[in-house]
Formats: sequence, C-alpha cells, structure tokens
Amino acid sequence: MEGDTIAGIASGMGGGIGIIRVSGPDAFFAVGRIFRTKKYLDSFSEKEEKEWDEEYFLKKDSHTIQYGFIVNEKSEVIDEVIVLLMKSPRSYTREDVIEIDSHGGALVLQKILKCLLSAGVRLAEPGEFTKRAFLHGRMDLSQAEAVMKMISSKSEFALDTAVKQLEGSLSRYIGEIREALLYHMGEIEAALDDPEHYSLDGYSEKLEKVIGEQLLRLEKLLKNFDNGRMWSEGIQTVIVGKPNAGKSSLMNLLLDEERAIVTNVAGTTRDILEESFRLGDLVLNLVDTAGIHETEDTVESIGVKKAVDYLNQADFVIYVVDILDHFNREDEEIISLLKNKKGVILLNKSDLETDASMNSELFDMLGWKQITFSAKEGLGLYELEEYITELFLQGDISYNDQVYLTNLRHKEAVEHAQESLNQVLCAIQDGMPEDVLMVDLMDAYSSLGLISGETASEDLVNKIFEEFCMGK
Ligand code: GDP
Repeated sequence: MEGDTIAGIASGMGGGIGIIRVSGPDAFFAVGRIFRTKKYLDSFSEKEEKEWDEEYFLKKDSHTIQYGFIVNEKSEVIDEVIVLLMKSPRSYTREDVIEIDSHGGALVLQKILKCLLSAGVRLAEPGEFTKRAFLHGRMDLSQAEAVMKMISSKSEFALDTAVKQLEGSLSRYIGEIREALLYHMGEIEAALDDPEHYSLDGYSEKLEKVIGEQLLRLEKLLKNFDNGRMWSEGIQTVIVGKPNAGKSSLMNLLLDEERAIVTNVAGTTRDILEESFRLGDLVLNLVDTAGIHETEDTVESIGVKKAVDYLNQADFVIYVVDILDHFNREDEEIISLLKNKKGVILLNKSDLETDASMNSELFDMLGWKQITFSAKEGLGLYELEEYITELFLQGDISYNDQVYLTNLRHKEAVEHAQESLNQVLCAIQDGMPEDVLMVDLMDAYSSLGLISGETASEDLVNKIFEEFCMGK
C-alpha cells in the first residue's frame, strides 16, 4: 500500500470550501496532470494549442500555495482552486502531500476526485492518511487514535484529553514505564550472559522496588479510567420502568425534542432509542428501553433483551415509576436487575391528583435517591440534573496535567501489564531465579507497547484505522 498514491475528500460536507487531500509518491505529478494555471488557460484560448507541463508542481517549493484551475480529460474547467504543496517528509503523512481547496459543493468535490482517479490515483480508505503518518513514524498509535478522538469529541474534557494525547502525554507516561522495565531487563540479561562480571546479588530487592513503583503508576491510570471514559464518551444512562411509566416522555423532556414515541398504549416504544445530551460539563448518553417485562411479542422481547444488556453496561440508571400504579412483580424484577448500580428513582406523574396508591417505600431497598417528578410538566427536572452533576463531577472536571486513560484498548493493555508485573513480584517473593522473572517482565513490556503500537500486530493496526472516517 505504501507505494501508491491516494486521494480523499478531507472536509465535511456543506462547507464553503472543500478540501481534497492527495498523498503518495505521485501526488505532485497526478495533480499536475489535472491542474492548469490561469496564464496557461488564457494563452490557450488565444493562440494555438500549447503543451502543459505536467511536472509543474514538482518544480515548485514545498509549503507554497499555487492558484489555478482543475480540468477534466477534455480540458474543461471543473473548478477554480488553490493548491497547497507539502513535500516529503514535511507533511501529515510524511509523503508528498497536496491539498486542493475547491468550492465546497459535493458534486464539485466528486468531479475533482474523479479526475484524480483517472490520473492514476487511488481512493483512500478510511483513516489511511493517518495510518500512513503512523507507519512513517510521524506519530504513534495512541496519537493516531487521539486524532480520531478529537474529531468525535462530544465534550470539552474529551477534546482536552485528545489534544494532550495527540501531543504525546500518554505516550510519554507509558514510555517512561517501559524504559524502566527495559533497563532492568537489560541488567538481568547482561548478568545472566556474563555471570563473572555481573552479579545479581541483592538485585531482587532492587527490582521489587522498581516494579512496585511502576505498578503504582499503572494503578493511577486505571483508577481514573471510569471518570476519564465518562467525561469524554458520556455517561451511559439507561432509563427503565414498566410500560407507560413515562420513560419516553422523560426522554423527550431531557432531549427537548419529540424523538421518542410517546403513547399511552403499553409497550409501544419498540426499539431501543439512544441519544446524547449535554449537562454542563457532562454528556449523558440516554438509552430508553422498551420496558423490562415478559412479553409474547417478539419485536418487544428483543427490546427487553437489549435493555438487560444495556443495563449491564450502564453507569447510571433512571428508574421511572408511575405513582398511580401499583408495586408488583414486574417492579421486583426490575429492582433485582438494578442491584449494585448507581441510579435514581423518579416518582413520575406527580402533577396528577392522586391518593398516592404507589407505595414508594418498597423502592427503598435500592438505596437510591427518590425525586418527585412530572415528565409532563418538567417538575423535578432541576433536582434530577443537579443530582447527576453532583454524583459524577464531585467538584469539577479538572483540566490538570494528569494523564487520563479514555480508551478501552489502552485500559486492557495496562491491566495486562499490571497482571504480569504482579506475577514478577510473586516470583521474587517465591525466590525464583532471575531468568524466570524475564518472561513476565517481557510480557508487561510488550503489553504496554500495544498502546504506542510498537508491539501491535498488523491486524490490530488495520482494525484501529478501519474505524476512522474517510479523508482522515
Ligand atoms: P413509557 O411507556 O414508559 O415510555 O411511557 P410514555 O412516556 O409513553 O407515557 C405513557 C403515558 O403517560 C402517555 O400518555 C404520557 O403522556 C403520560 N405521561 C408520562 N409522564 C407523565 C406525567 O408526568 N404526567 C402525566 N399526567 N402524564 C404523563
């Protein structure tokens, strides 16, 4: 793949300017074939046919801007453009890169892309530009992932951590741990190779201390993972309750949009709806379930099964209770699924005249806060939002120098390294010889290398970049 030249639309649709990015050894030549200067076009129309110099860009300096026109095979002008030249290695991919700034219309961009494909360029796969940047050593894997995270950031915190990760904060943190491990693996290896000159007497105690320090650093990362993930990806919030309790109405109230189907026929919210909304510094990813109850209806039972899956991954549960209803077996079942979860109970429909038939004490067994609520009138909404903020922010999201893990892949690598280092400690305590320790030390070193991509397999690298968007 590295030998060829790729092109892709790099800008979002609908803007005033569209950007097409071309990268690879033939980038300058390929764009040169479909580009003409104003001077050339003017002289062309007045006099006889003139040869166009397809190597036009090759003769220009890097980091200059050229003005002109894109033409098709019949020499018809497609668009007026400016072209940015970045010669290898001073570019995003470290290859020769050209960016064509055109008028932003989708059709114009498609046409220019078509001209490029006829000029021998291949359409870029999603994430392929960033993948090339990674393969050419311009950034490591965690930095490449940060690029993607920046684009999809939903919150200020997500953007802030992505910028720091792109700038290399996580790479440095992990790099220091790996360096410490490498140094000691080197020492042990030298001593094992040359026992006459190197002694390992007392080395175990020294190693124990070093491993303990690295474990603390890993622990610090893991401790912050849940906060980091929730603050950047959003708090997975699941709304549960019996049919007709008012779940869809609550969803609508929170999203301030008539998206969920609100109806008074039991169980018509057929599928799982998921929407995100911002609550101050936090983002809530709301999942409205079809209601957890047994049903003969297949469409709905799929919804129920999914609801249970969602509950397992939920950070926060909003349990909507209709205060006019009666506590029954369904409530017991719901409660049994909610044990050990963080959540809140909304005593809904409190706007209605009621003799309070719902016995709310029965919900006390969850130990959750209960809020008198009305999804219809918005009563209790402020209290709900305040409670969520208090629960998940515990003060403020701090934009400090702390390194946050926000990616599950990174977390798993850190956990694996932690296990291996704990094995090393156990082996030291059991008085195992140093060569035995090497296996687990090496294992921890490799696991951490997955984060930067140094030890990542080609399959893993491909999988990560497949999730990128087009043109990036
Ligand atoms: P779901 O099945 O739990 O999603 O319940 P819905 O949101 O579809 O609501 C069922 C019915 O209760 C609808 O007719 C709603 O208008 C009504 N409803 C929901 N919340 C309230 C509320 O706070 N007050 C009143 N009076 N009616 C509500």
